[in-house]
Amino acid sequence: MSPLIKEKSETGRLHIDTPLMGESLVSRKFLAKTESAEYFRMHPDVNVLKIGGQSIMDRGSKALFPIVDVLIKAKEEYKILLMTGGGTRARHVYNIGVDLGMPTGVLSKLGDKVSSQNAEMLAVLLAKHGGVRIGHGDNLEQLTMFCREGYLPITTGIPPYGFFEHPAEVGSIPPHRTDSGAFLLAENIGAKSLIYLKDERGLYSDDPKKAKKIEDLRFIDRISVSELMALDLDDLIVERPVLTFLKNSKCLKEFQVIDALRHPEHIMAALAGEHVGTIVYKD
Ligand code: ADP
Ligand code: MG
Repeated sequence: MSPLIKEKSETGRLHIDTPLMGESLVSRKFLAKTESAEYFRMHPDVNVLKIGGQSIMDRGSKALFPIVDVLIKAKEEYKILLMTGGGTRARHVYNIGVDLGMPTGVLSKLGDKVSSQNAEMLAVLLAKHGGVRIGHGDNLEQLTMFCREGYLPITTGIPPYGFFEHPAEVGSIPPHRTDSGAFLLAENIGAKSLIYLKDERGLYSDDPKKAKKIEDLRFIDRISVSELMALDLDDLIVERPVLTFLKNSKCLKEFQVIDALRHPEHIMAALAGEHVGTIVYKD
């Protein structure tokens, strides 16, 4: 049925009969009607891998080369989009910005350059193996094609909020950084999986780097997102907004955090769907 309605007047103007007409798009009751039973997934075979900035890239060749070797093999078997973190240089520029009283949106713009530098370095390292740097624009529709042709697409993890970054719940550091960007992109392209490559076995009850003894902490190998939110941990291995994203996600059902520093071979295992780190799942 055509949604166009012709006015019965002399001019016969056309109107669009849409169920969204006259709605503020705010009402919860109304919005619930827009829920789909199943969402269209654009790249259902693509696995999104976020390479930590602080946890991996900043450690240089010793950490990165073994991971690069695994990725070169992995791309023969799996479709992969690599996304990069920022790390210590981003923290340094945030620190200067905070000292100068810069608003969150400006800090966001400063941090994205660092994630970009890491994407550039990774693209150079992988260039002869098909590594190709892409942006956040039109070529995201072409990811499956890139992977089919043997490329390994690489992009920055920072979501493009810039001046539109949300005010942080506490403080002024942009709340949506590269873990968030990786989640949002994986969700919106309908990716097969989302894997965070970091430097710890997974999620503990607190930051293992700040604990006196690791035995004092509880390792959480698998947890639902609402349980994790209810624990209200002071510190997490992924950015906090990622939990809300998973709670509301339409396509992604879980993500896994793995120790790619000590165990680069876990990348292959996680791509195969094995449980080698911490899995946080949507309940
Ligand atoms: P990335 O380099 O991917 O941005 P981050 O360094 O920002 O990673 O975050 C990973 C770090 O988070 C770990 O190295 C760990 O020290 C810290 N961390 C904080 N809280 C926790 C926790 N509850 N469990 C595990 N790691 C945690
Ligand atoms: Mg981080």
